[in-house]
Amino acid sequence: MINILPHQIVLLIGTIISFIVLIVGWPRRKLMGGVFFIAFCLSVSEWLIASTIESFVITQSTKVLWSQISYFGFTLANPFLFLFLLTYIRQREIIPRMTVTILIIPFLTIIVAWTNSFTGWLWSGFSQGSIENNVLIYHHGFWFWLHTAYLYLIFISGVIYLIRAIILAPPPIRRQLLIILAGIMFPLVSGTVYAFGLGPVEGLDITPTGLAFTGAFLAWALIRYQLLDLLPVARNALIEQLQDGVLVLDMSGRIADINRATQKLLGWDPKIMIGQNIDLSFPELPKIVYSTNRPIRREIPLPNSPGIVLEFQSSSILNQRKDEVGKLLVIRDVTSRNRAEADLQNANQQLKEQLAKNKILQKKLEQQALHDSLTGLYNRHIDEILHKEFSRAQRETKPISLAMIDIDHFKKINDKFGHQYGDLLLKTFSQYILSTIREEDLAARFGGDEIMLVFPGMTQENAVIKAEEIRQSFMNLAVVADQQQVTTTITVGVATFPQNGNTVDEVIRSADWALYAAKEEGRNRVKVLNGSV
Ligand code: GH3
Ligand code: MG
Repeated sequence: MINILPHQIVLLIGTIISFIVLIVGWPRRKLMGGVFFIAFCLSVSEWLIASTIESFVITQSTKVLWSQISYFGFTLANPFLFLFLLTYIRQREIIPRMTVTILIIPFLTIIVAWTNSFTGWLWSGFSQGSIENNVLIYHHGFWFWLHTAYLYLIFISGVIYLIRAIILAPPPIRRQLLIILAGIMFPLVSGTVYAFGLGPVEGLDITPTGLAFTGAFLAWALIRYQLLDLLPVARNALIEQLQDGVLVLDMSGRIADINRATQKLLGWDPKIMIGQNIDLSFPELPKIVYSTNRPIRREIPLPNSPGIVLEFQSSSILNQRKDEVGKLLVIRDVTSRNRAEADLQNANQQLKEQLAKNKILQKKLEQQALHDSLTGLYNRHIDEILHKEFSRAQRETKPISLAMIDIDHFKKINDKFGHQYGDLLLKTFSQYILSTIREEDLAARFGGDEIMLVFPGMTQENAVIKAEEIRQSFMNLAVVADQQQVTTTITVGVATFPQNGNTVDEVIRSADWALYAAKEEGRNRVKVLNGSV
Protein backbone atom coordinates (compact mmCIF):
# COMPACT_ATOMS: atom_id res chain seq x y z
CA MET A 1 0.00 0.00 0.00
CA ILE A 2 1.27 3.44 -0.89
CA ASN A 3 1.78 5.60 2.11
CA ILE A 4 0.65 9.12 1.15
CA LEU A 5 2.67 11.80 2.87
CA PRO A 6 1.31 15.21 3.97
CA HIS A 7 3.17 17.19 1.32
CA GLN A 8 1.88 14.80 -1.32
CA ILE A 9 -1.64 15.51 -0.13
CA VAL A 10 -0.93 19.23 -0.57
CA LEU A 11 0.18 18.57 -4.16
CA LEU A 12 -2.84 16.38 -4.88
CA ILE A 13 -5.22 19.00 -3.53
CA GLY A 14 -3.48 21.56 -5.73
CA THR A 15 -3.90 19.29 -8.76
CA ILE A 16 -7.60 18.82 -8.10
CA ILE A 17 -8.13 22.55 -7.59
CA SER A 18 -6.24 23.36 -10.75
CA PHE A 19 -8.47 21.01 -12.73
CA ILE A 20 -11.63 22.53 -11.28
CA VAL A 21 -10.33 25.99 -12.13
CA LEU A 22 -9.57 24.85 -15.64
CA ILE A 23 -13.11 23.51 -16.12
CA VAL A 24 -14.72 26.59 -14.59
CA GLY A 25 -12.42 28.98 -16.42
CA TRP A 26 -12.74 27.32 -19.82
CA PRO A 27 -15.92 29.20 -20.90
CA ARG A 28 -14.23 32.48 -20.04
CA ARG A 29 -11.37 31.93 -22.46
CA LYS A 30 -13.06 34.36 -24.87
CA LEU A 31 -12.61 37.25 -22.47
CA MET A 32 -9.89 39.71 -23.15
CA GLY A 33 -6.80 37.85 -21.86
CA GLY A 34 -8.81 34.65 -21.39
CA VAL A 35 -6.37 32.62 -23.49
CA PHE A 36 -3.52 33.57 -21.16
CA PHE A 37 -5.67 32.67 -18.18
CA ILE A 38 -6.27 29.18 -19.61
CA ALA A 39 -2.58 28.85 -20.50
CA PHE A 40 -1.77 29.79 -16.92
CA CYS A 41 -4.20 27.16 -15.57
CA LEU A 42 -2.77 24.51 -17.92
CA SER A 43 0.78 25.37 -16.83
CA VAL A 44 -0.14 25.11 -13.16
CA SER A 45 -1.90 21.78 -13.77
CA GLU A 46 1.07 20.39 -15.66
CA TRP A 47 3.46 21.57 -12.98
CA LEU A 48 1.31 20.02 -10.24
CA ILE A 49 0.87 16.69 -11.98
CA ALA A 50 4.59 16.42 -12.71
CA SER A 51 5.48 17.50 -9.14
CA THR A 52 3.02 15.01 -7.70
CA ILE A 53 4.53 12.18 -9.71
CA GLU A 54 8.04 13.37 -8.74
CA SER A 55 7.03 13.10 -5.11
CA PHE A 56 5.94 9.50 -5.58
CA VAL A 57 8.81 8.08 -7.65
CA ILE A 58 11.81 6.80 -5.74
CA THR A 59 15.01 6.85 -7.77
CA GLN A 60 17.02 10.00 -8.25
CA SER A 61 17.06 9.79 -12.05
CA THR A 62 13.26 9.46 -12.34
CA LYS A 63 12.80 12.25 -9.81
CA VAL A 64 15.06 14.51 -11.90
CA LEU A 65 13.22 13.48 -15.09
CA TRP A 66 9.85 14.49 -13.59
CA SER A 67 11.37 17.71 -12.31
CA GLN A 68 12.51 18.44 -15.86
CA ILE A 69 8.96 17.71 -17.07
CA SER A 70 7.52 19.97 -14.37
CA TYR A 71 9.69 22.82 -15.66
CA PHE A 72 7.35 23.36 -18.60
CA GLY A 73 4.55 24.41 -16.30
CA PHE A 74 6.83 25.92 -13.69
CA THR A 75 8.59 28.35 -16.03
CA LEU A 76 5.48 29.31 -17.98
CA ALA A 77 2.87 29.73 -15.21
CA ASN A 78 4.07 33.11 -13.95
CA PRO A 79 4.70 34.70 -17.35
CA PHE A 80 1.23 33.63 -18.48
CA LEU A 81 -0.25 35.10 -15.31
CA PHE A 82 1.57 38.34 -16.04
CA LEU A 83 0.34 38.39 -19.65
CA PHE A 84 -3.20 37.75 -18.44
CA LEU A 85 -3.06 40.67 -15.99
CA LEU A 86 -1.65 43.00 -18.60
CA THR A 87 -4.27 42.10 -21.18
CA TYR A 88 -7.21 41.97 -18.83
CA ILE A 89 -6.51 45.22 -17.06
CA ARG A 90 -5.85 47.15 -20.22
CA GLN A 91 -8.60 45.31 -22.11
CA ARG A 92 -6.36 45.36 -25.13
CA GLU A 93 -4.49 42.57 -26.89
CA ILE A 94 -0.78 42.46 -26.32
CA ILE A 95 1.45 42.81 -29.35
CA PRO A 96 2.95 39.40 -30.25
CA ARG A 97 6.51 40.70 -30.02
CA MET A 98 6.02 41.52 -26.36
CA THR A 99 4.57 38.07 -25.65
CA VAL A 100 7.60 36.46 -27.30
CA THR A 101 10.00 38.66 -25.32
CA ILE A 102 8.38 37.75 -22.04
CA LEU A 103 8.60 34.04 -22.89
CA ILE A 104 12.30 33.98 -23.93
CA ILE A 105 13.78 33.32 -20.47
CA PRO A 106 11.20 30.62 -19.61
CA PHE A 107 11.98 28.77 -22.86
CA LEU A 108 15.71 29.05 -22.27
CA THR A 109 15.16 27.75 -18.75
CA ILE A 110 13.35 24.68 -20.12
CA ILE A 111 16.32 24.02 -22.41
CA VAL A 112 18.74 24.51 -19.53
CA ALA A 113 16.70 22.07 -17.41
CA TRP A 114 16.82 19.40 -20.11
CA THR A 115 20.52 19.86 -20.74
CA ASN A 116 21.39 20.11 -17.07
CA SER A 117 23.28 16.82 -17.07
CA PHE A 118 25.84 18.49 -19.37
CA THR A 119 25.99 21.94 -17.83
CA GLY A 120 24.81 21.73 -14.25
CA TRP A 121 23.58 25.32 -14.65
CA LEU A 122 20.18 24.69 -13.12
CA TRP A 123 21.01 22.01 -10.62
CA SER A 124 24.60 21.75 -9.55
CA GLY A 125 23.95 18.56 -7.60
CA PHE A 126 21.43 16.46 -5.69
CA SER A 127 21.35 15.03 -2.22
CA GLN A 128 19.03 12.77 -0.33
CA GLY A 129 16.55 14.60 1.92
CA SER A 130 14.56 12.92 4.66
CA ILE A 131 14.01 9.28 3.76
CA GLU A 132 10.53 9.04 5.24
CA ASN A 133 9.36 12.04 3.20
CA ASN A 134 10.98 10.67 -0.02
CA VAL A 135 12.41 14.09 -0.82
CA LEU A 136 15.30 14.74 -3.18
CA ILE A 137 17.13 17.97 -2.49
CA TYR A 138 18.12 19.93 -5.60
CA HIS A 139 21.19 22.12 -5.24
CA HIS A 140 20.69 25.14 -7.37
CA GLY A 141 23.05 26.39 -10.04
CA PHE A 142 23.34 29.98 -11.24
CA TRP A 143 20.59 29.64 -13.86
CA PHE A 144 18.12 28.76 -11.18
CA TRP A 145 18.78 32.08 -9.48
CA LEU A 146 18.70 33.96 -12.74
CA HIS A 147 15.35 32.42 -13.51
CA THR A 148 14.09 33.10 -10.00
CA ALA A 149 15.13 36.75 -10.34
CA TYR A 150 13.29 36.91 -13.61
CA LEU A 151 10.18 35.44 -12.05
CA TYR A 152 10.31 38.04 -9.29
CA LEU A 153 10.79 40.81 -11.81
CA ILE A 154 7.78 39.75 -13.80
CA PHE A 155 5.79 39.11 -10.71
CA ILE A 156 6.57 42.47 -9.09
CA SER A 157 5.85 44.27 -12.39
CA GLY A 158 2.48 42.54 -12.52
CA VAL A 159 1.70 43.46 -8.92
CA ILE A 160 2.69 47.11 -9.43
CA TYR A 161 0.58 47.28 -12.56
CA LEU A 162 -2.33 45.75 -10.72
CA ILE A 163 -2.03 48.10 -7.75
CA ARG A 164 -1.92 51.09 -10.05
CA ALA A 165 -5.09 49.84 -11.78
CA ILE A 166 -6.73 49.31 -8.39
CA ILE A 167 -6.06 52.91 -7.41
CA LEU A 168 -7.48 54.26 -10.67
CA ALA A 169 -10.47 51.93 -10.94
CA PRO A 170 -14.05 52.79 -9.92
CA PRO A 171 -15.21 50.89 -6.79
CA PRO A 172 -16.85 47.77 -8.28
CA ILE A 173 -13.88 47.07 -10.54
CA ARG A 174 -11.57 47.80 -7.65
CA ARG A 175 -13.21 44.96 -5.72
CA GLN A 176 -12.59 42.57 -8.61
CA LEU A 177 -8.98 43.60 -8.93
CA LEU A 178 -8.43 43.29 -5.17
CA ILE A 179 -9.55 39.66 -5.36
CA ILE A 180 -7.06 39.10 -8.16
CA LEU A 181 -4.34 40.78 -6.09
CA ALA A 182 -5.15 38.59 -3.10
CA GLY A 183 -5.01 35.56 -5.41
CA ILE A 184 -1.57 36.26 -6.78
CA MET A 185 -0.10 36.68 -3.30
CA PHE A 186 -0.20 32.88 -2.75
CA PRO A 187 2.73 32.02 -5.04
CA LEU A 188 4.70 34.97 -3.70
CA VAL A 189 4.54 33.49 -0.21
CA SER A 190 4.94 29.85 -1.21
CA GLY A 191 7.64 30.56 -3.81
CA THR A 192 9.68 32.61 -1.38
CA VAL A 193 9.38 29.90 1.25
CA TYR A 194 10.76 27.33 -1.19
CA ALA A 195 13.49 29.38 -2.84
CA PHE A 196 15.01 30.37 0.48
CA GLY A 197 14.46 27.01 2.16
CA LEU A 198 12.12 28.42 4.83
CA GLY A 199 9.54 25.59 4.67
CA PRO A 200 8.85 22.92 7.27
CA VAL A 201 10.18 20.17 5.02
CA GLU A 202 13.44 20.84 3.23
CA GLY A 203 13.19 20.61 -0.56
CA LEU A 204 9.40 20.62 -0.49
CA ASP A 205 8.03 23.07 -3.05
CA ILE A 206 4.45 24.12 -2.29
CA THR A 207 4.50 26.87 -4.94
CA PRO A 208 2.36 25.02 -7.50
CA THR A 209 -0.36 24.45 -4.90
CA GLY A 210 -0.16 28.16 -4.11
CA LEU A 211 -0.65 28.89 -7.77
CA ALA A 212 -3.64 26.59 -7.93
CA PHE A 213 -5.23 28.80 -5.29
CA THR A 214 -4.34 31.81 -7.40
CA GLY A 215 -6.22 30.23 -10.27
CA ALA A 216 -9.20 29.65 -8.01
CA PHE A 217 -9.23 33.30 -6.96
CA LEU A 218 -8.93 34.53 -10.51
CA ALA A 219 -11.77 32.30 -11.68
CA TRP A 220 -13.88 33.55 -8.81
CA ALA A 221 -13.11 37.19 -9.65
CA LEU A 222 -13.92 36.69 -13.32
CA ILE A 223 -17.18 34.90 -12.67
CA ARG A 224 -18.37 36.95 -9.73
CA TYR A 225 -17.87 40.23 -11.63
CA GLN A 226 -18.62 39.04 -15.12
CA LEU A 227 -20.81 42.07 -15.59
CA LEU A 228 -17.64 44.08 -15.90
CA ASP A 229 -16.11 41.91 -18.56
CA LEU A 230 -17.12 44.30 -21.23
CA LEU A 231 -15.56 47.21 -19.50
CA PRO A 232 -12.04 48.28 -20.19
CA VAL A 233 -10.56 48.85 -16.79
CA ALA A 234 -8.02 51.33 -17.98
CA ARG A 235 -10.75 53.36 -19.56
CA ASN A 236 -10.09 56.61 -21.10
CA ALA A 237 -9.60 59.42 -18.66
CA LEU A 238 -11.41 61.40 -21.32
CA ILE A 239 -14.72 59.78 -20.39
CA GLU A 240 -14.37 61.08 -16.86
CA GLN A 241 -13.54 64.55 -18.10
CA LEU A 242 -16.43 64.69 -20.56
CA GLN A 243 -19.07 67.36 -20.06
CA ASP A 244 -21.61 64.89 -21.41
CA GLY A 245 -22.86 62.05 -19.29
CA VAL A 246 -21.65 58.59 -20.28
CA LEU A 247 -23.53 55.46 -19.34
CA VAL A 248 -22.50 51.89 -20.17
CA LEU A 249 -25.14 49.15 -20.19
CA ASP A 250 -24.69 45.43 -20.66
CA MET A 251 -27.07 43.56 -22.94
CA SER A 252 -29.55 42.88 -20.16
CA GLY A 253 -29.91 46.54 -19.26
CA ARG A 254 -27.67 46.54 -16.21
CA ILE A 255 -25.60 49.64 -15.60
CA ALA A 256 -21.94 48.74 -15.96
CA ASP A 257 -20.42 52.17 -15.63
CA ILE A 258 -21.23 55.86 -15.32
CA ASN A 259 -18.89 58.78 -15.58
CA ARG A 260 -18.72 61.82 -13.34
CA ALA A 261 -20.96 63.93 -15.57
CA THR A 262 -23.72 61.31 -15.36
CA GLN A 263 -23.37 61.21 -11.59
CA LYS A 264 -23.85 64.97 -11.49
CA LEU A 265 -26.58 65.13 -14.09
CA LEU A 266 -28.75 62.44 -12.55
CA GLY A 267 -27.59 62.71 -8.95
CA TRP A 268 -26.53 59.07 -9.07
CA ASP A 269 -24.23 57.35 -6.62
CA PRO A 270 -22.11 54.85 -8.59
CA LYS A 271 -21.94 52.53 -5.58
CA ILE A 272 -25.71 52.12 -5.69
CA MET A 273 -26.36 52.46 -9.41
CA ILE A 274 -23.72 50.20 -10.95
CA GLY A 275 -25.24 46.77 -11.36
CA GLN A 276 -28.79 48.12 -11.18
CA ASN A 277 -31.11 47.75 -14.14
CA ILE A 278 -31.65 50.94 -16.11
CA ASP A 279 -35.41 50.37 -16.36
CA LEU A 280 -35.73 51.27 -12.67
CA SER A 281 -34.68 54.81 -13.54
CA PHE A 282 -35.83 55.12 -17.16
CA PRO A 283 -38.56 52.54 -17.79
CA GLU A 284 -38.93 53.31 -21.50
CA LEU A 285 -35.22 53.44 -22.29
CA PRO A 286 -34.46 49.69 -22.77
CA LYS A 287 -37.19 49.39 -25.43
CA ILE A 288 -35.61 52.20 -27.42
CA VAL A 289 -31.99 51.26 -26.93
CA TYR A 290 -32.21 47.51 -27.51
CA SER A 291 -34.60 47.74 -30.47
CA THR A 292 -31.69 48.17 -32.90
CA ASN A 293 -27.96 47.94 -33.05
CA ARG A 294 -27.75 51.16 -34.99
CA PRO A 295 -27.04 54.48 -33.26
CA ILE A 296 -30.17 56.17 -31.91
CA ARG A 297 -30.92 59.67 -30.62
CA ARG A 298 -33.92 60.21 -28.40
CA GLU A 299 -35.17 62.87 -26.02
CA ILE A 300 -36.71 61.65 -22.79
CA PRO A 301 -38.19 63.75 -19.98
CA LEU A 302 -36.41 63.21 -16.68
CA PRO A 303 -38.85 61.35 -14.40
CA ASN A 304 -39.97 63.35 -11.35
CA SER A 305 -38.39 66.53 -12.72
CA PRO A 306 -41.02 68.35 -14.74
CA GLY A 307 -39.65 70.33 -17.64
CA ILE A 308 -36.21 68.73 -17.69
CA VAL A 309 -35.48 66.89 -20.93
CA LEU A 310 -32.48 64.65 -21.52
CA GLU A 311 -31.13 63.59 -24.86
CA PHE A 312 -29.81 60.02 -25.07
CA GLN A 313 -27.50 58.98 -27.87
CA SER A 314 -27.03 55.26 -27.91
CA SER A 315 -24.50 53.17 -29.81
CA SER A 316 -23.33 49.58 -29.65
CA ILE A 317 -20.27 48.27 -27.88
CA LEU A 318 -18.78 45.42 -29.89
CA ASN A 319 -16.23 42.86 -28.85
CA GLN A 320 -13.36 41.86 -31.11
CA ARG A 321 -15.54 39.39 -32.96
CA LYS A 322 -18.05 42.17 -33.64
CA ASP A 323 -20.69 40.71 -31.31
CA GLU A 324 -22.72 43.33 -29.53
CA VAL A 325 -21.88 43.11 -25.84
CA GLY A 326 -23.30 46.34 -24.50
CA LYS A 327 -24.57 49.85 -25.13
CA LEU A 328 -22.83 53.15 -24.77
CA LEU A 329 -25.17 56.04 -23.96
CA VAL A 330 -24.20 59.69 -24.08
CA ILE A 331 -26.55 61.89 -22.06
CA ARG A 332 -27.07 65.59 -22.43
CA ASP A 333 -29.44 68.01 -20.72
CA VAL A 334 -31.24 69.66 -23.62
CA THR A 335 -33.81 71.58 -21.57
CA SER A 336 -32.35 75.01 -22.22
CA ARG A 337 -31.52 74.16 -25.81
CA ASN A 338 -35.10 73.04 -26.41
CA ARG A 339 -36.40 76.18 -24.73
CA ALA A 340 -34.20 78.38 -26.89
CA GLU A 341 -35.36 76.49 -29.96
CA ALA A 342 -39.00 76.93 -28.95
CA ASP A 343 -38.45 80.67 -28.36
CA LEU A 344 -36.80 80.97 -31.72
CA GLN A 345 -39.66 79.16 -33.39
CA ASN A 346 -42.14 81.43 -31.63
CA ALA A 347 -40.29 84.51 -32.75
CA ASN A 348 -40.17 83.11 -36.25
CA GLN A 349 -43.88 82.44 -36.21
CA GLN A 350 -44.63 85.95 -35.02
CA LEU A 351 -42.40 87.36 -37.69
CA LYS A 352 -44.18 85.32 -40.34
CA GLU A 353 -47.57 86.51 -39.10
CA GLN A 354 -46.39 90.10 -39.15
CA LEU A 355 -45.06 89.62 -42.65
CA ALA A 356 -48.39 88.21 -43.80
CA LYS A 357 -50.18 91.18 -42.22
CA ASN A 358 -47.80 93.55 -43.95
CA LYS A 359 -48.47 91.89 -47.27
CA ILE A 360 -52.20 92.28 -46.83
CA LEU A 361 -51.69 95.89 -45.83
CA GLN A 362 -49.51 96.50 -48.84
CA LYS A 363 -52.10 94.94 -51.14
CA LYS A 364 -54.71 97.19 -49.60
CA LEU A 365 -52.56 100.24 -50.13
CA GLU A 366 -51.93 99.30 -53.72
CA GLN A 367 -55.63 98.78 -54.14
CA GLN A 368 -56.33 102.15 -52.59
CA ALA A 369 -53.77 103.82 -54.81
CA LEU A 370 -55.53 102.55 -57.91
CA HIS A 371 -59.11 102.81 -56.71
CA ASP A 372 -61.58 105.56 -56.13
CA SER A 373 -62.73 105.63 -52.54
CA LEU A 374 -66.29 106.78 -53.17
CA THR A 375 -67.33 104.34 -55.88
CA GLY A 376 -64.81 101.49 -55.57
CA LEU A 377 -64.06 101.81 -59.32
CA TYR A 378 -60.55 102.32 -60.59
CA ASN A 379 -59.32 105.94 -60.48
CA ARG A 380 -57.59 107.68 -63.34
CA HIS A 381 -54.17 106.15 -62.51
CA ILE A 382 -54.76 103.09 -64.62
CA ASP A 383 -52.38 104.01 -67.43
CA GLU A 384 -50.31 100.92 -66.84
CA ILE A 385 -53.30 98.59 -67.06
CA LEU A 386 -54.58 100.43 -70.13
CA HIS A 387 -51.26 100.18 -71.90
CA LYS A 388 -51.09 96.46 -71.19
CA GLU A 389 -54.60 95.95 -72.57
CA PHE A 390 -53.73 97.93 -75.68
CA SER A 391 -50.47 96.02 -76.25
CA ARG A 392 -52.32 92.77 -76.00
CA ALA A 393 -55.02 93.94 -78.39
CA GLN A 394 -52.31 95.00 -80.85
CA ARG A 395 -50.45 91.72 -80.44
CA GLU A 396 -53.54 89.62 -80.89
CA THR A 397 -54.98 92.02 -83.51
CA LYS A 398 -58.19 92.27 -81.58
CA PRO A 399 -60.26 95.41 -81.13
CA ILE A 400 -60.57 97.27 -77.84
CA SER A 401 -63.33 99.75 -77.18
CA LEU A 402 -63.67 102.64 -74.73
CA ALA A 403 -66.86 104.27 -73.54
CA MET A 404 -66.53 107.72 -71.91
CA ILE A 405 -69.62 108.39 -69.79
CA ASP A 406 -70.62 111.74 -68.27
CA ILE A 407 -73.71 112.35 -66.16
CA ASP A 408 -75.95 115.08 -67.53
CA HIS A 409 -76.60 118.10 -65.36
CA PHE A 410 -75.06 116.50 -62.37
CA LYS A 411 -74.39 119.87 -60.84
CA LYS A 412 -78.11 120.48 -60.67
CA ILE A 413 -78.66 117.36 -58.63
CA ASN A 414 -76.07 118.49 -56.16
CA ASP A 415 -77.62 121.89 -56.03
CA LYS A 416 -81.18 120.66 -55.71
CA PHE A 417 -80.88 117.71 -53.34
CA GLY A 418 -77.52 118.16 -51.76
CA HIS A 419 -74.10 116.80 -52.38
CA GLN A 420 -74.76 113.55 -50.52
CA TYR A 421 -77.48 112.60 -52.98
CA GLY A 422 -75.09 113.29 -55.80
CA ASP A 423 -72.66 110.91 -54.10
CA LEU A 424 -75.36 108.33 -53.66
CA LEU A 425 -76.28 108.50 -57.33
CA LEU A 426 -72.63 108.07 -58.28
CA LYS A 427 -72.31 105.02 -56.06
CA THR A 428 -75.52 103.45 -57.29
CA PHE A 429 -74.51 104.00 -60.87
CA SER A 430 -71.06 102.47 -60.22
CA GLN A 431 -72.57 99.37 -58.67
CA TYR A 432 -74.84 98.98 -61.65
CA ILE A 433 -71.88 99.32 -64.02
CA LEU A 434 -69.87 96.69 -62.16
CA SER A 435 -72.81 94.32 -62.33
CA THR A 436 -73.32 94.75 -66.04
CA ILE A 437 -69.78 94.65 -67.50
CA ARG A 438 -67.82 91.42 -68.15
CA GLU A 439 -65.07 90.24 -65.92
CA GLU A 440 -62.36 91.29 -68.35
CA ASP A 441 -63.83 94.81 -68.70
CA LEU A 442 -62.64 97.75 -66.62
CA ALA A 443 -64.47 100.71 -65.13
CA ALA A 444 -62.62 103.82 -63.93
CA ARG A 445 -63.92 107.05 -62.45
CA PHE A 446 -62.01 109.71 -64.34
CA GLY A 447 -62.96 112.49 -61.97
CA GLY A 448 -66.20 114.33 -61.14
CA ASP A 449 -69.10 112.64 -62.85
CA GLU A 450 -67.05 111.10 -65.64
CA ILE A 451 -66.60 107.32 -65.90
CA MET A 452 -64.60 105.45 -68.52
CA LEU A 453 -65.35 101.84 -69.47
CA VAL A 454 -62.79 99.65 -71.24
CA PHE A 455 -63.99 96.65 -73.27
CA PRO A 456 -61.04 94.50 -74.43
CA GLY A 457 -61.80 92.50 -77.56
CA MET A 458 -65.10 94.31 -78.17
CA THR A 459 -65.96 95.74 -81.59
CA GLN A 460 -67.26 99.27 -82.04
CA GLU A 461 -70.78 98.06 -82.88
CA ASN A 462 -71.02 95.92 -79.76
CA ALA A 463 -69.56 98.68 -77.64
CA VAL A 464 -72.22 101.07 -78.94
CA ILE A 465 -74.90 98.49 -78.20
CA LYS A 466 -73.53 98.01 -74.68
CA ALA A 467 -73.30 101.78 -74.10
CA GLU A 468 -76.85 102.19 -75.32
CA GLU A 469 -78.00 99.51 -72.90
CA ILE A 470 -76.27 101.29 -70.02
CA ARG A 471 -77.72 104.65 -71.03
CA GLN A 472 -81.23 103.27 -71.05
CA SER A 473 -80.81 101.46 -67.78
CA PHE A 474 -79.44 104.61 -66.18
CA MET A 475 -82.68 106.45 -66.83
CA ASN A 476 -84.42 103.94 -64.61
CA LEU A 477 -81.82 104.19 -61.86
CA ALA A 478 -83.07 106.42 -59.14
CA VAL A 479 -82.20 107.39 -55.61
CA VAL A 480 -84.79 108.73 -53.26
CA ALA A 481 -84.24 112.14 -51.69
CA ASP A 482 -86.93 113.95 -49.66
CA GLN A 483 -89.47 111.42 -50.97
CA GLN A 484 -88.55 112.46 -54.46
CA GLN A 485 -87.03 110.32 -57.19
CA VAL A 486 -83.66 111.66 -58.22
CA THR A 487 -83.04 110.68 -61.82
CA THR A 488 -81.12 112.04 -64.72
CA THR A 489 -79.48 110.83 -67.91
CA ILE A 490 -76.00 110.11 -69.23
CA THR A 491 -74.15 110.91 -72.41
CA VAL A 492 -71.64 108.44 -73.84
CA GLY A 493 -68.81 108.80 -76.33
CA VAL A 494 -67.53 105.53 -77.78
CA ALA A 495 -64.18 104.96 -79.53
CA THR A 496 -62.47 101.75 -80.68
CA PHE A 497 -58.95 100.59 -81.49
CA PRO A 498 -58.00 100.41 -84.31
CA GLN A 499 -60.76 102.50 -86.10
CA ASN A 500 -60.49 105.59 -83.88
CA GLY A 501 -56.78 105.53 -83.06
CA ASN A 502 -53.72 103.36 -82.62
CA THR A 503 -52.60 104.38 -79.14
CA VAL A 504 -54.27 104.69 -75.79
CA ASP A 505 -54.16 108.46 -75.90
CA GLU A 506 -55.57 108.64 -79.41
CA VAL A 507 -58.51 106.42 -78.62
CA ILE A 508 -59.21 108.23 -75.30
CA ARG A 509 -59.15 111.55 -77.12
CA SER A 510 -61.53 110.21 -79.75
CA ALA A 511 -63.94 108.98 -77.03
CA ASP A 512 -63.72 112.40 -75.34
CA TRP A 513 -64.55 114.13 -78.61
CA ALA A 514 -67.45 111.81 -79.25
CA LEU A 515 -68.75 112.61 -75.75
CA TYR A 516 -68.29 116.30 -76.30
CA ALA A 517 -70.09 116.09 -79.61
CA ALA A 518 -72.93 114.11 -78.03
CA LYS A 519 -73.30 116.71 -75.28
CA GLU A 520 -73.45 119.35 -77.97
CA GLU A 521 -76.11 117.45 -79.80
CA GLY A 522 -78.35 117.53 -76.74
CA ARG A 523 -77.10 114.91 -74.21
CA ASN A 524 -78.67 111.56 -73.25
CA ARG A 525 -77.24 109.71 -76.21
CA VAL A 526 -74.40 107.49 -77.38
CA LYS A 527 -72.08 108.80 -80.05
CA VAL A 528 -69.21 107.44 -82.02
CA LEU A 529 -66.95 109.35 -84.43
CA ASN A 530 -65.64 108.13 -87.73
CA GLY A 531 -61.89 107.79 -87.97
CA SER A 532 -59.35 109.18 -85.54
CA VAL A 533 -59.18 112.74 -84.28
P1 GH3 B 1 -73.06 118.51 -68.09
O1 GH3 B 1 -74.39 118.02 -68.46
O2 GH3 B 1 -72.51 119.48 -69.04
O3 GH3 B 1 -72.11 117.44 -67.79
O4 GH3 B 1 -73.33 119.31 -66.77
P2 GH3 B 1 -72.83 118.97 -65.35
O5 GH3 B 1 -73.64 119.70 -64.35
O6 GH3 B 1 -72.77 117.54 -65.14
O7 GH3 B 1 -71.43 119.60 -65.34
P3 GH3 B 1 -69.96 118.93 -65.37
O8 GH3 B 1 -70.03 117.54 -65.81
O9 GH3 B 1 -69.09 119.86 -66.12
O10 GH3 B 1 -69.53 119.05 -63.84
C1 GH3 B 1 -69.44 117.99 -62.96
C2 GH3 B 1 -70.00 118.34 -61.68
O11 GH3 B 1 -70.03 117.22 -60.82
C3 GH3 B 1 -69.18 119.36 -60.92
C4 GH3 B 1 -69.38 119.03 -59.47
O12 GH3 B 1 -70.32 119.83 -58.83
C5 GH3 B 1 -69.95 117.68 -59.49
N1 GH3 B 1 -69.11 116.78 -58.78
C6 GH3 B 1 -67.80 116.50 -59.06
N2 GH3 B 1 -67.32 115.56 -58.18
C7 GH3 B 1 -68.37 115.27 -57.33
C8 GH3 B 1 -68.51 114.39 -56.25
O13 GH3 B 1 -67.56 113.68 -55.84
N3 GH3 B 1 -69.71 114.31 -55.61
C9 GH3 B 1 -70.75 115.06 -56.01
N4 GH3 B 1 -71.91 114.95 -55.37
N5 GH3 B 1 -70.63 115.90 -57.05
C10 GH3 B 1 -69.47 116.02 -57.70
MG1 MG C 1 -71.70 116.08 -66.21
